[in-house]
Amino acid sequence: MGNKDCLFCKIINKEIKSSIVYEDKDILAFKDIHPQAPVHILIIPKQHIEKISDLDEQKKDIVSNLILIANNLARDNKIDKQGYRLVFNCGPDAGQLVFHIHLHLLGGRKMAWPPG
Ligand code: AMP
Ligand code: ZN
Repeated sequence: MGNKDCLFCKIINKEIKSSIVYEDKDILAFKDIHPQAPVHILIIPKQHIEKISDLDEQKKDIVSNLILIANNLARDNKIDKQGYRLVFNCGPDAGQLVFHIHLHLLGGRKMAWPPG
C-alpha cells in the first residue's frame, strides 16, 4: 500500500519503526524523530498525497480530520490551555522535506513569531 519510495508510507506500513501515538483506519500520528519542542507530533493521512497544494474538493476533508486529531493530542499532552502550533510545510521555500502530507503539532514551550 502507498508509495514504495515514501518514508511516511513505510512508517504507515510498519516497514520503518516509529513512536505511534494514535492510529485509525485513515490517520496515523507519531512522534517526530527530531523534536523541535517538548511536544512534536506528526499527524498524517494514510493516503499518499505529496503536499498540501495537491488537495482538491474531493480530498479536502482529510485536512479537517488531521486537525481534529491534533486537537485531541494537544489535550492528551496537556498543552491545549497554554497553546500550540499546527504547521503544514508546503514546498521548498517552506522547508518541506518529506513529500507525504503531514501536520506538525508543536507545543510545550513559547513559540516565536515570525517563524524562521
Ligand atoms: P517537513 O520539513 O515538514 O517535511 O518535516 C519532516 C519531518 O519529519 C521533520 O520534522 C523530521 O524530523 C521528521 N522525520 C523524518 N524522518 C522521520 C522518522 N523516521 N520518524 C519520525 N519523524 C521523522
Ligand atoms: Zn507516502
